[in-house]
Amino acid sequence: MSQISKLNALEILDSRGNPTLEVILQLDSGNLGVAKIPSGASTGKHEAVELRDGDKTRYGGKGVRKAVSNVMDEIQNALTHFEGSQAALDKELVELDGTPNKARLGANAILGVSIAAAKAWAAENQMPLYRYFSNEDDYVLPVPMLNVLNGGRHADNNVDFQEFMIAPLGAPNFAEALRAASETFHTLREILKQKGYATSVGDEGGFAPRLRSNEEPMELLLAAIERAGYKPGFDIAINLDPAASEFYEDGVYVFRKSDQSSRTTEVMIDYWSDWLKRYSAIFSLEDGLSEEDWEGWRELTQELGHKVQPVGDDIFVTNPSIFQRGIRDGIANSILIKLNQIGTVTETLHCIELARRSGYTAVVSHRSGETDDTTIADLAVAAGTGQIKAGSVCRGERIGKYNRLLEIEKELGRNGQYAGRMAYARWKPIK
Ligand code: PGA
Ligand code: ZN
Repeated sequence: MSQISKLNALEILDSRGNPTLEVILQLDSGNLGVAKIPSGASTGKHEAVELRDGDKTRYGGKGVRKAVSNVMDEIQNALTHFEGSQAALDKELVELDGTPNKARLGANAILGVSIAAAKAWAAENQMPLYRYFSNEDDYVLPVPMLNVLNGGRHADNNVDFQEFMIAPLGAPNFAEALRAASETFHTLREILKQKGYATSVGDEGGFAPRLRSNEEPMELLLAAIERAGYKPGFDIAINLDPAASEFYEDGVYVFRKSDQSSRTTEVMIDYWSDWLKRYSAIFSLEDGLSEEDWEGWRELTQELGHKVQPVGDDIFVTNPSIFQRGIRDGIANSILIKLNQIGTVTETLHCIELARRSGYTAVVSHRSGETDDTTIADLAVAAGTGQIKAGSVCRGERIGKYNRLLEIEKELGRNGQYAGRMAYARWKPIK
């Protein structure tokens, strides 16, 4: 792999119209890599720092000019003529920053360089990005989780839980899975229309109508799956991300948006247990408890971990050392993987490797603020996670990831296999 010759960066906009960072890295060979960085809204407390200018006269303080100049000045000075592996580059970036959470140079700046380098080296080797991440004979195409109905902070309604997702796990391949998801999404739109609900979409392309209770999205989704001609829990599973950190107040879970009821951790675990009994189509439960409820997470995993996939997002923040503690303490059995929660390709791959070695699954994920960068599609295939979460089948920045997976599936032909029900085999018997 040839040396890094030049770095460039600029302030662009993400899918919400907020500033974010684009990084362009050039190698001596002339090959280029371009990375565009996503941005979250319901972020975990311990995520690596997304550097923002704080200058209220520009973009309400959200500008990223400092991150841009960190790439073009300090990082460029340190990395010009750099020659080495991805791991060596990422180590150098982490050391150059010098803080435990990438607060000095910014995780957005660091990740931009890390991904841009990966893309440039992939181009130099005339390899697709997934092959650069992991050069194998055979690959697994992930089951998508598509966020089609919203509540919580993502919607102005009476639903406390953030995301209701469909996962078309019964399809024979990724293309057919995406068709099932799209048909269900459009059927859901029809049902919402018939009921007089709004069909405008939120940040991740899902609907956010003024629903009346926490159960109503479940009933609507079950109806949409069936009316579209699929069997809930067999062809299409329902996955939840209630984002419970958002409704955890002083040690209790408060359903402010629906009925004002509050629950202790024990009662919240019973609540989920009851939902799993009532709704057998639920396969995955992300952030069912708060990031601050470590002990509760352990109990939830013990009680429900054999019936559902408890996924840790806010609680692990794709951080290998926090995740390692979680594994030791029996927290969750699946981890959500967001590149910008930790800030380098190498640390992200390390988390996925830790998951694999510890019998955890991993779900590669987008952020609610996205760009047209499709790196996560290649990452999910390369790491063989069998699961990806990239929003609804609506909005260009979400569809881009799914279209990239269609391309990869086509390119791989017989060397690519759809994960299908095997992605969840541990929790639900394969019928
Ligand atoms: P985000 O979170 O808004 O921080 O991207 C979405 C999620 O909770 O998975
Ligand atoms: Zn989440």
